Amino acid sequence: MILSRRTLIAGVAALPVAALAAPDYAILPVPLADGVWMIRGADGPIEPANGGAIANIAIIATPAGTVLIDCGPSVRYARALKAVAEKLTGMPVIRVYLTHLHPDHGLGAAAFDPAIVSALPGTIDALRAAGQGYADAMYRILNDWMRGTDVVLPGKPITTDAELFGGRSLKLLALSGHSGADLAILDERSGLLIGGDLVFHDPAPSTPTADLPRWRASLDRLRTLPHGGLVPGHGPFDAGGTASIAQTRDWLNWLDGALTQAVAEGLDMVEAGELPIPDHFATMTAARYELQRSVSHLYPVIEARLLPRIDMPD
Ligand SMILES: [Zn+2]
Repeated sequence: MILSRRTLIAGVAALPVAALAAPDYAILPVPLADGVWMIRGADGPIEPANGGAIANIAIIATPAGTVLIDCGPSVRYARALKAVAEKLTGMPVIRVYLTHLHPDHGLGAAAFDPAIVSALPGTIDALRAAGQGYADAMYRILNDWMRGTDVVLPGKPITTDAELFGGRSLKLLALSGHSGADLAILDERSGLLIGGDLVFHDPAPSTPTADLPRWRASLDRLRTLPHGGLVPGHGPFDAGGTASIAQTRDWLNWLDGALTQAVAEGLDMVEAGELPIPDHFATMTAARYELQRSVSHLYPVIEARLLPRIDMPD
């Protein structure tokens, strides 16, 4: 059957509004330890098929209430997450931490009272400056999934290195490198480390706001911090807690060296995006895609470092 444009428009007009809206998010918490669950983000880039729900989220049950670490890309996601988490723990959500400014992790914060949403001061400043641009981009990609989502700044800046919830202590690590301010959280009871996007596990790291030396220093800090399993920002749970840190660091080392050499050899950005990727990264997903994105993010920085204007003082 061939549908004319007129038939299609008439058919769409006859559909109930609900049928036109995006489908609901599937939120499936997986237990990791006593009172800790992870919701695994979809693999792949932000796209309508996944509603932007690509980031991992953690739920922690405490005697004082439920804590969320990141809350997804949209109000629709965050409302569903809240309902699932509160049903799971039997306790209301009393704290939502945003690990960093990226919209796949935190635009859903608009679903909560800003007084319970907490982030590093650098993250709040960055959201004030760049949040609206991220939100606009997400609306353009995701349309109906984003309806009702606005940038709401966290109302509780993190000023201490731990927060106690009825006896359950969460250690708050103020780091940086994936972005200007990256929060990692250690649940001291279970030993689980929630790394945010400082740690990628199998998906190649994304670098739109990266500072590679700082990122490597943050990974060194996480590596030496005693911990058990690790929840990465993207990719599967790392039960041993070290492989994902090593993999992320290995990729960043290679990326920095390869792009620096490419600039030194005079390759243009298209050529740099086609650089051979070492075989030991073969298990990494989206490696070519992220390399090409990283060239666009990092090439200008490396060029400025290696090729200073001779008339400009250091
Ligand atoms: Zn990120």
